[in-house]
Amino acid sequence: MELLQRLTRRQLDALRAVEAEETPTRGAALNGVARRLGVSAPAALEHLGPLERLGLIERRRGKSRVSPRGRGCLTEYGRHHRVAERLFGRFGFSADAACGAAREVDLALSHRTVERLCAAEGHPAVCPHGESIPPCGPRRG
Ligand SMILES: [Zn+2]
Ligand SMILES: [Zn+2]
Repeated sequence: MELLQRLTRRQLDALRAVEAEETPTRGAALNGVARRLGVSAPAALEHLGPLERLGLIERRRGKSRVSPRGRGCLTEYGRHHRVAERLFGRFGFSADAACGAAREVDLALSHRTVERLCAAEGHPAVCPHGESIPPCGPRRG
């Protein structure tokens, strides 16, 4: 099973929260990650453990950083999500409705299926929100 297919939605959201909270000089503090997820610090910590074991984040003195593997995983996720958004957009979903629908399926899709959908869509450069879609190619996460 591919890495994204092994992650829960909450784990993926926690990985994105770490990415959003960390700065070039400072890892993400647990409280900041918890605030972004809208959960308590102990609840947020439950998601960080599996991310660390999968090598997606590195934790040191209570601070978390996204690892190179985690960055690849986030790039791959962005591709899954935005290609799925394009697909729903084709059926008349608004950008926000397409986003919600894409979140229902983006983690479950295989790399191969996303590559096929991307090709069928003519290799779109951006999602319905105008955010760039990482190009087709080998799996990054
Ligand atoms: Zn493509
Ligand atoms: Zn989008």
